[in-house]
Amino acid sequence: MPELPEVEVLARHLRPLIHGKTIRAVNVRRAKVLLPTPPRTFRRTLLGAKFTGLSRRGKYLLFQLRVKANRKPISLLGHLGMTGRIFLAQKGRRLPKHAAVTLDLGASNLVYEDTRYFGRLTLDTSAVARLGPEPLDDEFRAETFAQSLKRSRQAIKVKLLDQGLVAGIGNIYASEALFRARISPGLAANKLTVAQVRRLRLAIRVVLAEAIECGSTVPLNLGGSKADGLFYFGRAPGAPDFYEERLRVYDREEQPCPNCRHPIKRIIQAARSTFYCPHCQRA
Ligand SMILES: [Zn+2]
Repeated sequence: MPELPEVEVLARHLRPLIHGKTIRAVNVRRAKVLLPTPPRTFRRTLLGAKFTGLSRRGKYLLFQLRVKANRKPISLLGHLGMTGRIFLAQKGRRLPKHAAVTLDLGASNLVYEDTRYFGRLTLDTSAVARLGPEPLDDEFRAETFAQSLKRSRQAIKVKLLDQGLVAGIGNIYASEALFRARISPGLAANKLTVAQVRRLRLAIRVVLAEAIECGSTVPLNLGGSKADGLFYFGRAPGAPDFYEERLRVYDREEQPCPNCRHPIKRIIQAARSTFYCPHCQRA
């Protein structure tokens, strides 16, 4: 499942490819992913609009477009959910079975594909207003982070998934950051010491920055071949294949901890897997 680094990698990849391109046709095959925007509004708004920018906020992509008739720019929000992918496909290629929306950009189509339709490509950008600070920006401050944690009795691993606390962290990087910070995933958020909060904030920034640098972690290119010219989300062009090796605890149950060689444990918290080292993450 894509988290902040994967979405950032995707945004960096797509940004120059779509810049200045005009939407010549809008094809909606699964109206569910547009919700709550009605398909007619979606089509009418985007037809003839030109891409002027692409940014990321948390796990969301924010496409900026300029509409001809109306000089006020509009935003299109993309969220990949569990299985979504957004890529450019050459015109004339067969569309994937689960292509939910295609935007005709001339020589190519911008395709939003989602096998489970949990993601979104919508004109409703209200979700962004509910997000906490961007973890890699200066606005992610230790003092406010500490204050937010003080108000929660949830286990810290579960609390880190709250996008209102800090934006963009999902199941993978929550486990990785806690391991890096040597904090037990079961510790109540309001019980973290000042030193632990500082370590955790830094660990979050380090694991996310490293992941962006490396390209990605999640091998979402399953089912596709790299040779067909599509961008497979999850791997930046030229990124090394060994990225998964860089995850220190996630999906490594029973494998030796890279610090102490004790076996990594997997537990379930709020119906999701947590991976940690019981020896290194005791407090
Ligand atoms: Zn360990």
